[in-house]
Amino acid sequence: MKKKRIELLKGDITTLNVDAIVNAANNSLLGGGGVDGAVHKAAGPGLLDECKGLNGCQTGQSKITHGYNLKAGHIIHTVGPIWCGGYKDETELLALSYQSSLRLAKENKFKTIAFPGISTGVYGFPKDLAAIIAINETKRFINKNPYPEKVIFVAYDDEGYEIYKKLLNQ
Ligand code: ADP
Repeated sequence: MKKKRIELLKGDITTLNVDAIVNAANNSLLGGGGVDGAVHKAAGPGLLDECKGLNGCQTGQSKITHGYNLKAGHIIHTVGPIWCGGYKDETELLALSYQSSLRLAKENKFKTIAFPGISTGVYGFPKDLAAIIAINETKRFINKNPYPEKVIFVAYDDEGYEIYKKLLNQ
């Protein structure tokens, strides 16, 4: 049987034992709230030191660091767009965030990476639209590339989990 390349989990992304977790960072890459705060707290101060040398990150782009105290070997920091009603290229920018993260996973030959719902917290992106973009971009990428072998979508709550479950079962 063909191995499943997309998985869905509910919980805290910082606990996962994968090659890389993706962090929903901001342009400074110097930490913030939500998943970003949780990642920095769990990884420890070495992460902030490395991030200080990265010179920030543009929206839609991604940069990679070590995982420090995480079980994950690396962290891919991507900056999703702030939702402004859909008038500021938000859908394209969110797609770019997924593409640039997946590209880094490919370049590093990562077998398994995990994504939170980029932009769906403080940045206010509608969760269902964000999940459609996340799934479409991931399917498109893995159909063309051997790495990453597996992509895990991590929902933090029941609502997010149900949105992904419905879309993935279609
Ligand atoms: P953004 O600023 O990109 O919106 P947030 O961190 O505010 O980023 O939220 C992104 C998503 O990550 C939200 O759906 C939120 O529920 C989820 N989230 C927050 N903490 C965690 C965590 N520890 N693990 C997985 N997902 C998380």
